[in-house]
Amino acid sequence: MPVLDDILAGRLQQLDAQALRRVPREGWRQAGAEIIRDGRRLVSFSCNDYLGLSHHPEVIAAAVEATQTYGTGAGASRLVTGEHPLYAALEQALADWKGTEAACIFGSGYLANIGAITALMGKDDMIIADRLAHACMIDGAQLSGTIFKRFAHNDMAHLEKILLSERKHHTHCLIVTESVFSMDGDRAPLEDIIALARTHEAWVLVDGAHELSARHSCESRNPAQPSPDSSLRGNDGVIWIGTLSKALGSYGGYVCGSRVLADYLKTTARSLIYTTGLPPAVIAVALASVKILVKEPERAALPLKKAQLFTALAGLQPAQSAIVPVIIGEAEAALCMSQQLEAEGFLVSAIRPPTVPPGTSRLRLAFSAMHRDEDIERLAALVSRLQP
Ligand SMILES: *Cc1c(COP(=O)(O)O)cnc(C)c1O
Repeated sequence: MPVLDDILAGRLQQLDAQALRRVPREGWRQAGAEIIRDGRRLVSFSCNDYLGLSHHPEVIAAAVEATQTYGTGAGASRLVTGEHPLYAALEQALADWKGTEAACIFGSGYLANIGAITALMGKDDMIIADRLAHACMIDGAQLSGTIFKRFAHNDMAHLEKILLSERKHHTHCLIVTESVFSMDGDRAPLEDIIALARTHEAWVLVDGAHELSARHSCESRNPAQPSPDSSLRGNDGVIWIGTLSKALGSYGGYVCGSRVLADYLKTTARSLIYTTGLPPAVIAVALASVKILVKEPERAALPLKKAQLFTALAGLQPAQSAIVPVIIGEAEAALCMSQQLEAEGFLVSAIRPPTVPPGTSRLRLAFSAMHRDEDIERLAALVSRLQP
């Protein structure tokens, strides 16, 4: 009989040979955009803590206070005894901040996506996903057993074609996409997608894990004619997903939408029912972060400005979000460039298949409100020089 460890060791060797093995490396983040790795201080362009809130004194104080008041763990599922009072406070704050009726918190953004998709969709339905939609939406679609189609990235003609030919064969239809694409930093044409969904009686699920703006707003193609906000709110077949784990400096995920949607998810989403509630401190951190963003909305605009400074200096397409990809090509070349940048004091992770399509390995830069312009200038010069 083959030995499990031998089989796995062989698979690991194969991944090594293709420069596709992933190994967690120890490091700890500091206030600002710094990380300590192998005893060295690096400026990190690989954290999704876009606003530096994970080290904000008020946020840390909220974590300590919640732990002292409610203890360290939730103790059970939200539906058993895990529903400490901070849950309701954060759900209300998220709904107010995002301009929806209600919110439902999950254990992570990943769990929110698979929970919402499997709760809403069944075997007679159809899910149509953007080709670049995040793995958690693909996993949710597969778990739901729903017919699954994909449209070319941001290609409205292709989406419409699928809707025209396939929609009539299925009871319900859900279009899934991201508001800011996590590996490319570009934005989905949400207004157009929602308009198509309305025409073809489909629902839309938007994963806004990298969205920094307060309202789950839709970028208008024609800024002179913004569509009425009300048609884009979560009350009518639009499901907004977000994470507490990135810009909010904590851990967890959420769905924003109508009250009925939130109530329905709480009683049907398996990834909420069959897992323990989040620790009180984790919820308190997200709540403190939302309060800071409501008080200081200008903070959320900084990462895009920093990203645009970088793209201008490096001669790249202007950034559309805090995420900027520098496409390199082969996995090995991307890894090599990442190592060269590390030698210069910058942490810039290489992103390889299967996270991105083969031949599009890249450096993924995430800009933070905490980055100093002089670091961005030095990085832009290095990237321009090292690029193959
Ligand atoms: C990070 C990410 C998630 C997962 O969120 P977690 O809270 O880290 O589980 C989901 N979707 C997208 C697009 C992401 O980038």
